[in-house]
Amino acid sequence: MSLNVADIRKDFPILSRKVNGKPLVYFDNAATSQTPQQVIDCIVDYYSGYNANIHRGVHTLSQEATDKYEEARLKIQAHFNAKKSHEIIFTSGTTHGINLVANGFSSLLKKGDEIIVSALEHHSNIVPWQMLCERTGATLKVIPMNQDGELVMLEFDKLLSQNTKLVFVNHISNALGTINPIEAIIEKAHQVDAAVLVDGAQACPHIKPDVQALDVDFYVASAHKMCGPTGVGILYGKEKWLNLLPPYQGGGEMIAEVTFEKTTYADLPHKFEAGTPNICGGIAFGAAIDYMNAIGFDAIANYEHELLEYATEKLLAIDGLKIYGTSKHKTSVVSFNLEGIHPYDVGTILDKLGIAVRTGHHCAQPIMDFYKIPGTVRASFAFYNTKEEIDALVEGVKKAQMMLS
Ligand code: PMP
Repeated sequence: MSLNVADIRKDFPILSRKVNGKPLVYFDNAATSQTPQQVIDCIVDYYSGYNANIHRGVHTLSQEATDKYEEARLKIQAHFNAKKSHEIIFTSGTTHGINLVANGFSSLLKKGDEIIVSALEHHSNIVPWQMLCERTGATLKVIPMNQDGELVMLEFDKLLSQNTKLVFVNHISNALGTINPIEAIIEKAHQVDAAVLVDGAQACPHIKPDVQALDVDFYVASAHKMCGPTGVGILYGKEKWLNLLPPYQGGGEMIAEVTFEKTTYADLPHKFEAGTPNICGGIAFGAAIDYMNAIGFDAIANYEHELLEYATEKLLAIDGLKIYGTSKHKTSVVSFNLEGIHPYDVGTILDKLGIAVRTGHHCAQPIMDFYKIPGTVRASFAFYNTKEEIDALVEGVKKAQMMLS
């Protein structure tokens, strides 16, 4: 099924605004996606219709808000194909989900245990594990990458041992767009009984992950990368793991009984949801998932791939332009530099032309160190972008090159 992009664009009010007097071309989707009117309406409906605290009120508004919040959890459960709804924990985003798991493993690891991460990780999938190693005496090992920006799986095989307790890898790299072979990574890690956490922040805008088919132990995502609001996300965890991990934060909502002598914890998912959650955000996350599913993830992926191929060809035709991340298995991200020109300068000129790209190390400094560069210009495409917008980017890059060289 092909997409009617002209109609889809009408759903996104922000796409008709101007920036610096030029029509906005939004190519910073890997940082945050834009929000369709359907999700904006859902947020307005919540605050104008049934804003109330959940789970503890007998009054009508509280019950309405609770029902909608729990309905959103069910939608998310169905979307990720989790076996049970209490395996879906609402978080404030990917970073929160990773820290929740890393904190939980503090009591399960000891000196001599090993944790494996990949060279393609976002800082949020590096730093919490380093902190976990400091707390427990475990050691961090790294699956190396090659020049194409792919993980060297033969080296992964060598890193795995009976000491491996955890493996953490992102599904898709935010800096390069590489789609990692998570199926193979999960299977191999399970052969040595290691648990696997997959960071799906960049995958969920493009792919519908099936956590049961993947047999993944933990999967984390952020709503704001998939047409939802900021400040909300999910942690999927297999029930057996979530039962084993201690709570991350103490507070209201996460208890069964509290006395000054002893507190017992609530059942899943509430054990990990202390305090008042982002109620509106959770409900709007459900609306965002409905929106994307109505368009269809196969159609989204096909169209975005077309955009990727078009942009790659047009950009590579520019003399002195180098693309980083040249794997055949990649999503709609083009990370590039112009020879002798700092990415920040390119980004600044593109902004003057109304084109939003990201410049810098993209919270993935080890990748930049690997290529010995300070950063890249990253254009990341979503299903509401067009080839005409890519033409504008290409012209903008040529202009930047002329002005800066
Ligand atoms: N992991 C990856 C791969 C990401 O791209 C991002 C966001 N750039 C994160 C983790 C962190 O997500 P959040 O800021 O929503 O917690």
